[in-house]
Amino acid sequence: MSSQTLYPKSVEVLKHVLSEKNYKDIEKYLHEYNGTADSVKPVAKYITIYWIGRVADRMILRTEGEDDIILSEVGGEAVPTIIFRKLKAVYLRDFMKLVRVQWSRHSESIKESIKNVYGDNYDFLTGCSIAVGIAGEEKGVLHGRCMKCPVDVLMGATSGEAKYNLVSRFVGDAAYALTPSFERRTGNSIDEVTHTTIMLTGGESEEVRRTGGLFSETFVEPGTLFVGKIVLPMISQPELVHVLWLLAHVKRIGARTSIQGTLEVYPVAMVGDLFEVGTAYEVAEKLRGKKNIEEVRRGILDYLNNEAKFVTSSSLVEFTPDVISKLRNINILEQNLMLELWSNAKRYVEGILKYIQAR
Ligand SMILES: [Zn+2]
Repeated sequence: MSSQTLYPKSVEVLKHVLSEKNYKDIEKYLHEYNGTADSVKPVAKYITIYWIGRVADRMILRTEGEDDIILSEVGGEAVPTIIFRKLKAVYLRDFMKLVRVQWSRHSESIKESIKNVYGDNYDFLTGCSIAVGIAGEEKGVLHGRCMKCPVDVLMGATSGEAKYNLVSRFVGDAAYALTPSFERRTGNSIDEVTHTTIMLTGGESEEVRRTGGLFSETFVEPGTLFVGKIVLPMISQPELVHVLWLLAHVKRIGARTSIQGTLEVYPVAMVGDLFEVGTAYEVAEKLRGKKNIEEVRRGILDYLNNEAKFVTSSSLVEFTPDVISKLRNINILEQNLMLELWSNAKRYVEGILKYIQAR
């Protein structure tokens, strides 16, 4: 089976958005899930995407724990850093939201296409949630992941009940600021109000972390630019369509507990290879001090073309204004596109189950 037969709609959308030539170029680094044990074995296929983040207002990065380094040294200077986990949390939430809408609109046809694996009683809306249980809630009352839906299959999930874990195929580097524009503050909650305001800080228990006295914050100045990288190992055509759609839509991230303020995200370029291409850290080192977004965009393209790319790399696919506008116009609730995403997840799970049995 080929991607043409497994994902005809997704292939059509990718060709339209990226151009026929660009699609052909990255195609061999995309992966088909046909439901066999072999299809889920690791192979070297990576799509790497570079992006620029721009701070739109005064942004606060809060520390959550000891391993949560939010200042990194780049070229001898300490610069604000957004760890990938924080960025991923935003995309996970938005992908979940989108898939919920798809399910609500088309649950009958989705159920029809997945029931031989998930059974008749599978319900995504009640079966899968990323909502965190309220502290103090009894164990077992917490919401769980279904381990079957497109969100879990792409972004990764674990569950005590399933026989398998799902590895995230949405990974990446921390994003580094290009200028050391920050102010750091460590404080103590002084009154009843600040003491009970939820602040994610270091601490032994959830209770202490969420309401705790001591906290540390880093303020990042408006206009500060960040450079980041997303890596999609063994990604399939329908998954790529959805990730690109999310990247073109989730432009502002913020108003979360750990990132307050607004970060606008601009995808710059995408490249396929047998390896991840380059590192966000290296780009940040090269473009240190830059404050002009257009200059940074060109700098990333130069870095990829002249230094980071391998002989095996695809050509660079730029997110031009034309590509971005086509991405925004994808009808992401279109039934065939959505069925391809769901049946892909189903075949992925089928492959995992066969793989476990075969061992
Ligand atoms: Zn799920």
